[in-house]
Amino acid sequence: MQDAVVFVYAKRLDDDTRRHSRFIRNSGAIMSGMREAGIHYRVEHDFPDYLRDESRRIGWAESISFPASVTEVRECLAYARSRKEPATVQGARTGITAGAVPEGGHVLNLSRMQKILSFARTPSPSVVVQPGLSLEELRTAVREETGGKWFFPPDPTETSASVGGMIACNASGARSFFYGPFRRYVTGLRIMLFDGSTLLIRRGVDRAHNRNFEIKTDSGSTLGGLLPSYRIPAVKNASGYYVQDEMDLIDLFVGAEGTLGVVYEAELRLILNPPVQFGLLACLPSEKSALALVRQVREQARMRPAQSGLVAMEFFDHGALELVGADSTAVELGVPACAGAAVYFEFHGDGQDFLENRVSELGQSLEQNGADLDNAWLAASDQEMGRLKAFRHAVPEAVNRIVGERKKTAPEITKLGTDLAVPDDHLEEIMALYREGLERLGLEHVIFGHIGDNHVHVNILPRNADEYEKGRKLYHEWTRAAV
Ligand SMILES: Cc1cc2nc3c(=O)[nH]c(=O)nc-3n(C[C@H](O)[C@H](O)[C@H](O)COP(=O)(O)OP(=O)(O)OC[C@H]3O[C@@H](n4cnc5c(N)ncnc54)[C@H](O)[C@@H]3O)c2cc1C
Repeated sequence: MQDAVVFVYAKRLDDDTRRHSRFIRNSGAIMSGMREAGIHYRVEHDFPDYLRDESRRIGWAESISFPASVTEVRECLAYARSRKEPATVQGARTGITAGAVPEGGHVLNLSRMQKILSFARTPSPSVVVQPGLSLEELRTAVREETGGKWFFPPDPTETSASVGGMIACNASGARSFFYGPFRRYVTGLRIMLFDGSTLLIRRGVDRAHNRNFEIKTDSGSTLGGLLPSYRIPAVKNASGYYVQDEMDLIDLFVGAEGTLGVVYEAELRLILNPPVQFGLLACLPSEKSALALVRQVREQARMRPAQSGLVAMEFFDHGALELVGADSTAVELGVPACAGAAVYFEFHGDGQDFLENRVSELGQSLEQNGADLDNAWLAASDQEMGRLKAFRHAVPEAVNRIVGERKKTAPEITKLGTDLAVPDDHLEEIMALYREGLERLGLEHVIFGHIGDNHVHVNILPRNADEYEKGRKLYHEWTRAAV
């Protein structure tokens, strides 16, 4: 995909340079820079894919660029400023909240900035990369550079996502149950503000004083102010700007969805790669028994998190299992047929004893909660783990595909997906609330996701505009109840 973008870019650059050469020649220093940065104007016609992301929402834009260097990023922002237009930053456009979908103005697509700039082993292992590098490319580079000794834990399922995009939405994922969200691994950022000025911001160095902050730009000017006064809830949370008293100011930019500046370089922390990693998918007779199992295993893990090695717990309801099964993906992957619901567990640790002890402990909990032990899928090799992950990925992919198809006849619909996390005590309550609303309105849906953090995704698949509206209202009800 990256190659295709570069190819399209090179071709369009020639066409556009010719088409706009008069305009460029007459427009002074800023515009002469545009020849290199490549501003393209017929976005809807020539670059329709760049008006949408995985949310399937479709936007509009006056122009788009694919800068390949910091200088070009600066030139493209100067162009947007000269036109008094907003700029929407894009990474790989895998986002599911339409953050990369423009609403007019200029699209700054960073997919060509995909270099690994450096690796460091001291004081602690880290890697410095450009924002367009994908998670998959990052993982491969870390594995090859360190011989598999170090790894980068965040795992937001979609491995084509770019580093810039994952920083901007503070991506989490299955393993956040143990490893935490993306921000935990961002130790330094180089940011370009909309006015073209740049700043370097480092974890542990640039901090707020209470809620007051001051940041120095590279040219020596100071930006300062007062952070918002709201409190971040003590559950997994990615809404709004992250603020805390005495906070590391880098965290203001992580999760800011590109609204505060463009990330053009990131330093990411690596950690030791646990030598033993395995996953297990268990079939449960019902959703109720799956929730009871989750509660039991989680309580055991919370008592001794490091020894338990439990890094992820993912849930699949009956609808999600059926959807992937109907797609024939499950058959190809060899997924066991589950009648009720399924839970995926992932463990990271050390040595063969670790694996055997965890499997035996988990086996007891599975048995107590009525799991079908003959129908469990244990993945201990990289290849098997890869198949389990492909299965997990297949659920949101299938949903996106179906909604994409339905959109052809009902253009106003989009996927409706919740992203609500609640405290441990409220898991059963929120699940009951979801079930009640979905049944009351008869909406087609699947439920899957990060049950370890009480953060499942309810995906409604609206068949028409009426169902879409009903689904939206239901989501507002749920959001109010969760908050
Ligand atoms: C199948 C699937 C499963 C997923 N599962 C999970 C999950 O389990 N957990 C989870 O947390 N997420 C999940 N996601 C969402 C995932 O985290 C995002 O899709 C991804 O992080 C976005 O990266 P991107 O490069 O595609 O960014 P884009 O979609 O291009 O952009 C996302 C946001 O980042 C901003 N942005 C992009 N680059 C920069 C930059 N360099 N500087 C400043 N702002 C920038 C954009 O303006 C936008 O606001 C899933 C997505 C898919 C498709």
